[in-house]
Amino acid sequence: MISKKMRPFLENNSAIRMMFEEGKKMAELYGADKVYDFSLGNPNVPAPQRVGEAIKEILDEEDPLFVHGYMSNAGYPQVREAIAENLNQRFGTSFAGRNLIMTVGAGSGLNVALKTVLDPGDEVLTFAPYFLEYRAYVTNYDGVLVTVEPDTETFQVNLEAFRAKINEKTKAVIINNPNNPTGVVYSEETIQALAAILNEKQAAYGHEIYLISDEPYRELVFDGAAVPFVTKYYDNTMVVYSYSKSLSLPGERIGYLLIPDELSESAMTIDAATIANRISGCVNAPSLIQLAVGRCVDCQADLDFYDRNRKTLYEGLTGMGFDCVRPQGAFYLWMKVPGAEAEFVQAAKQYHILAVPGSSFACPGYVRLAYCVSYETIVNALPEFRKLAADYGLSV
Ligand code: PLP
Repeated sequence: MISKKMRPFLENNSAIRMMFEEGKKMAELYGADKVYDFSLGNPNVPAPQRVGEAIKEILDEEDPLFVHGYMSNAGYPQVREAIAENLNQRFGTSFAGRNLIMTVGAGSGLNVALKTVLDPGDEVLTFAPYFLEYRAYVTNYDGVLVTVEPDTETFQVNLEAFRAKINEKTKAVIINNPNNPTGVVYSEETIQALAAILNEKQAAYGHEIYLISDEPYRELVFDGAAVPFVTKYYDNTMVVYSYSKSLSLPGERIGYLLIPDELSESAMTIDAATIANRISGCVNAPSLIQLAVGRCVDCQADLDFYDRNRKTLYEGLTGMGFDCVRPQGAFYLWMKVPGAEAEFVQAAKQYHILAVPGSSFACPGYVRLAYCVSYETIVNALPEFRKLAADYGLSV
């Protein structure tokens, strides 16, 4: 008999994953070029060539016992140092290798961070719409996820609602910047205001409130948008990073958790997180790809590819009268539904368009379109969107 805790997961299995499976079935039925699957954030840009070269170099040059063996639970020291140095050059910070723990992607980095700080019953605040796995990750450690309602004008952080939801049980706050699903980049002003509220509330309640900044899309920004480096604004910040999107390596499962010296009881927290990484069952991040990203700290995915998709989709849809948030980062477009959400998602399927309902991100009334697909998918989907717009009486 499976556990009571797992049962709700079977009932509410990820809508995004189910849609992805449905997309594959539809592709078999109608042909892959006749299905417009905007469901999953699976990058369509190949990993930079340098990643493959680095893997080959490592296999040719290094001792196999070193490449495939266990290492420190926090990761290879030289990899962590290379990443710390790269961050320092880019953001004017002063991290050392000890501040980084290599993790099995951002999913694991978030779990390690939460396992490190949560006691049963602690509350974790996050902002709708949000990546729904946060709820499962928080309940893994018997925490309670509390949702702050969105500011639907800007989709920046709703500061007033945030202030109202913090209480003495709040132990952590998760932000995701650039944001999945809205494509919004939180501004410096937003981060400063958030930090001011957190500092005030920490003082009022007399305990730490950790800000966990989930940043798998950090480098995926357009139109010169700047993503503030949050450790500079708030001391009790942990940064979760992943190479899944920035280097198109989601299947490799590699990322890191950054815990700065400024965080209270930093050394103990780093030690605890290193143990959490081990006892979560991951033990350490995968060795070969860990060594490879250490040699690829300056690499980045092809941003022009995403930018072309972004502009074509946004301009196409808004030109048909759809109400969309202009994406500044990540590879998602957030669109208001003209009518009831569930009906719209079904109506889109009639035209072989797969869009994820906003309720999958705790924000009904919208859909998310992941534009990390081929350019042809976008171009060929637009006439189908036009038919959908006409069905809804939009000005096409
Ligand atoms: N956080 C956000 C906001 C995401 O969108 C994703 C993946 O889509 C993750 C975390 C998990 O990323 P990873 O593949 O590195 O575990």
